Amino acid sequence: MRCRSAAWLVGPALLALGLAPLATPARSAEASALGGQLGTSAPALAGVDPITGPRSHLNRDWIGVRPVEADTPILVLAGHADSQGIAGSGTSGAAVAAGAPPMYPGISDELYWNMVIAEAVVALGQQRGLRISSYRPPFRTISDGDHPSTNWSVGRQHAASGGYALEIHFDAWGPDGVGSGLIPPLHRPFGRLDESLAEAFGGFPMAFRGGLGGPRRGIALLEVGKLEGRLERSLRNPATRPDTVMAIASRIVTALEVGLGRSPTITPQPLSPQPGGVGSAPPGKGLQASSGDK
Ligand SMILES: [Zn+2]
Repeated sequence: MRCRSAAWLVGPALLALGLAPLATPARSAEASALGGQLGTSAPALAGVDPITGPRSHLNRDWIGVRPVEADTPILVLAGHADSQGIAGSGTSGAAVAAGAPPMYPGISDELYWNMVIAEAVVALGQQRGLRISSYRPPFRTISDGDHPSTNWSVGRQHAASGGYALEIHFDAWGPDGVGSGLIPPLHRPFGRLDESLAEAFGGFPMAFRGGLGGPRRGIALLEVGKLEGRLERSLRNPATRPDTVMAIASRIVTALEVGLGRSPTITPQPLSPQPGGVGSAPPGKGLQASSGDK
């Protein structure tokens, strides 16, 4: 049904992704290993991130220096969750444009991934002790953007009362898209949360497209990356999806921790050696262990 609540989607979607055991150290360690490896050892291609692809090349004409309380409540929204089937439903992504089936019938692929990332960010953020929650509109299509239950209205209210409202997006594929980056909220001086997210993902000019509806209402828009190429393939491929989602969510949550003035959580390493792992042999016994394996 067209106007049915999307609330039921994310739970099953996350289960399908294997993301339910977010709290297990193994899953977290895996994800951070992926993020760490790709994040530090990748060639420094100008403006291209190994996970999220091209960053915004537009001039960031702002700096966020306003301190933010460490217990600031953070509200995470999935972009386009209330605008399906009307203008502004989000990008189809390059795969669907090329003929692939959508990730879920009736919604844009962007909304699908926005929901998956938003939910993973909230779960991981709560696990790390942040005051973080999500809001999901009751209907997928609300034509009046100022209706009280839209992302815009709920996000504006949250920001006006001192919280931080963060709406997750993926940028358009092809020449219409810019890349990853934060479009900062415009309702008050830019803060450390804005700065931290922009350092992690890149930044857009403060008046991007004349000031978008969300930022003018006090909502930060995070473009994770263009929904195309390696990023989209890594998300669509069930074998790489869980680690890709966790790497993105972990980068967002770490940026939030830094922006809040908290120490970023160091993912605990497993106490016992990884089964069969090359690094599991104690020093001096590597050769023995290796030959024993053959
Ligand atoms: Zn979007």
